[in-house]
Amino acid sequence: MPDSRESDANQAPRVLIVEDERRLASLLTQQLTDLKLNVEAVHDGESGLEAALNGSFDLIILDVMLPGQDGFAICRELRRRGLTVPIMMLSARGVLEDRVRGLDSGADDYLTKPFEFAELSARVRALLRRQRPAAALSVTVGDLSLDPVSRSVHRGERKVDLTQKEFALLEYFMRNVDQVLTRAMIGEHVWDFTWDRMTNVIDVYVNHLRRKLEDAGESRVIHAVRGVGYVLRSSEHAHDQDA
Ligand code: CA
Repeated sequence: MPDSRESDANQAPRVLIVEDERRLASLLTQQLTDLKLNVEAVHDGESGLEAALNGSFDLIILDVMLPGQDGFAICRELRRRGLTVPIMMLSARGVLEDRVRGLDSGADDYLTKPFEFAELSARVRALLRRQRPAAALSVTVGDLSLDPVSRSVHRGERKVDLTQKEFALLEYFMRNVDQVLTRAMIGEHVWDFTWDRMTNVIDVYVNHLRRKLEDAGESRVIHAVRGVGYVLRSSEHAHDQDA
């Protein structure tokens, strides 16, 4: 894990821009610096990968078409190495396959060039907001505990291994304990986009998550709320209506 003390010393969120179009890179650097962000820009895939692995960034803005490794490959490599920093991909190509490919490679958001800066900055703020509170505090609900720093989840003494999205989903539930979350809220928060087929994806992920959390015969914590969504109940109040 990269040392995070450096970024703690400087309160401004750190943003890495990986963009080979230098005019665009310097324009974005200027605009994001005006938003009180601490920005670093590099101009090829190799430098991007190196900077991302060695700096502790709060957000990476990653162009798809780059000399050397392309953005998809970099994104996959960063996720393979366990980096959880939000990644927003930029592409000149607006085709749906690219968008899906970007999200499949582990990106959190995808923006097509040309874009309005207002659009970019709104998304940057959303990604930073989502990341910040999660970065600090571990959370415990009943016998379930989640530590965002070590990315670990325990049910009592038992360690539960989750994929990145399952972890994000569980963290969202745990930070909103006893609150009913609609599928739309879950889709927007955990995947950052809405999609009419998203509800099935959410149900599938919730079922995976439940199976892992109940693997040793533990009680159910994530409950369906008919026609609305799901709720994670603190276990002492849990009623297995839908078990
Ligand atoms: Ca490019």
